[in-house]
Parts: sequence; C-alpha cells; structure tokens
Amino acid sequence: MPWVDPRKLIADARAGGYAVGAFNMHNDETTEALVIAAEQAQAPVFLQVGRAIVPHMGLRRAFEMTRRIAEQSNADFVIHLDHGPWDECLEAIKLGFNSIMYDGAHLPFEENIRTTRRIVEIAHDFGIPVEAELGKIPDAGESVNWEDYYTDVGEAKRFVEETGVDSLAISVGIVHGVVPGVKPQPLAIRRTLEIRDAVGIPLVLHGASGIPEDEVEAAKAAGVHKFNADTDLRHAFRAGMEAVWSKGDAQLEDAMAEGRTRMIAATVEKMKLYGCAGKAPARR
Ligand SMILES: [Zn+2]
Repeated sequence: MPWVDPRKLIADARAGGYAVGAFNMHNDETTEALVIAAEQAQAPVFLQVGRAIVPHMGLRRAFEMTRRIAEQSNADFVIHLDHGPWDECLEAIKLGFNSIMYDGAHLPFEENIRTTRRIVEIAHDFGIPVEAELGKIPDAGESVNWEDYYTDVGEAKRFVEETGVDSLAISVGIVHGVVPGVKPQPLAIRRTLEIRDAVGIPLVLHGASGIPEDEVEAAKAAGVHKFNADTDLRHAFRAGMEAVWSKGDAQLEDAMAEGRTRMIAATVEKMKLYGCAGKAPARR
C-alpha cells in the first residue's frame, strides 16, 4: 500500500532519464487494472482522477475508490488530480490527494499566474506538489496552426519563476485524445529542449497515447518525465468488452473482466515504453 511522494518519483525519473506514467481511473475495474499493471511491471504509477470522472461520480467517490483499491495493492502510487479548476483543487487537497494539476489555462496570462501562485502556496503548505499546463492543447480532430498552440519559451520561464509550480505540462504537438487512422503531429523536440532549459523543472506531456516510440524516447531525453495517457488504455478496455460480447450476450462481469485483462497488458506496455518498469521505489 505504499503512497509515494510524487516529487521523489519525478526526481528519480529525471536522474535516471526515464518518465513515469499517469493514467486515468474510471471505475473499479480500470482502477484495478492500473494498480495490477504497476505491480506486474514493478513501476510507480500516477493514478489520475481526470476531467470526465468528476461530473460522473464526484471527486470524493473517485478519490475514495482509488485510495481503497490502491491501498489494498502492493503498487507504489500517487493519487493525482488532473486538470482541476480552483475549487476542485482545494477539495482535492482536503480529501488527501498527494498531487494536483491546477488548470488556469482559460484565464488571461497574468491572472493565470496569480491564481496558480496562490494554489501553489496552499498546496505546498500541505506538502503537495502542483503541476500546471501552459500553451494550448487541442482536442483530437481539431485542425490547428501549431505555432499558435506551442508553449512559448519566454512565457513558460516567467510562469514557472513567478508561480513556483513543481512541473509543467507543455504543448509541443500533442492533442487530448487520438483520432484513429490520423497520423499525429510530430513532437516539437527542439521547442521542448528550449523550454526545459528555460524553466529548469520537469516537463509533462498530456495526450501521450498517439506518440510513436522514437518520439517518446526523444521527449524523455528532452526533459519530459511524466506522460499522461488515457486513450490507448481506454481502447484496450473497450476491445476486451467487445471481444466478449462479439460472441453473443454475456454477463457484464465477464466483459468487464476481459476489459481489465487487456487494460493491464496495455498499461504494462506503456510503463515499459516510458522506462518506469522496474523502478518502483519500494522494490529497488
Ligand atoms: Zn492536459
């Protein structure tokens, strides 16, 4: 049941030149899939409470389900709030999350700096690190002029200096989600390096599902030490359910069990790709 300090996980990843995976929980089976994958791969894991789950079951239930399943496992885990607005971040701190991402991207830049700094002050009082995101990340399928979306190096430097955030999610060609059959934009690795050198803190990539292996390697070498991936794992779960149902009607439990099995395998693959397999602190 080891809760682990997210700052230590990311510091270790930075020192070791690898990245840690952050994956969304959705229900009992998918949460189990993530912790079982972490046990199997002996990898640390960020269990993420994401944007879609909060309106579905509420922050408290999502947190309590995640905590219960994680604490009964042998996984080394962090419970992380992804893309929290102000109120949700405060609630997450009260509930006992040990990592949060504050999303002030909708605010004008100066106001984003001000509110992020305030959240950082509060979270740090409770020993909780804060991730923020700068630059616009389009949803899959939007057609965009990428230069308008990339994180600006000068803004990133100022934002990090003035807010004191612990890690920064950047926009360098990634999207939230994946469109099947559409080749993703190549990652802007040079921009990633420039941001890394300007900010001096670990970088995060959201929407990591569509990123090919060689670009994952390049991103790790360019300062990215946390990848958030959801789509590929969600597709694995769905494929398992569909495989059971394609043979005719079946118990929901059988379909969910196959979904869980496939999601475990897909998560272990991600952990190997990110380089965090075998890096669980309790077992090193
Ligand atoms: Zn994001």
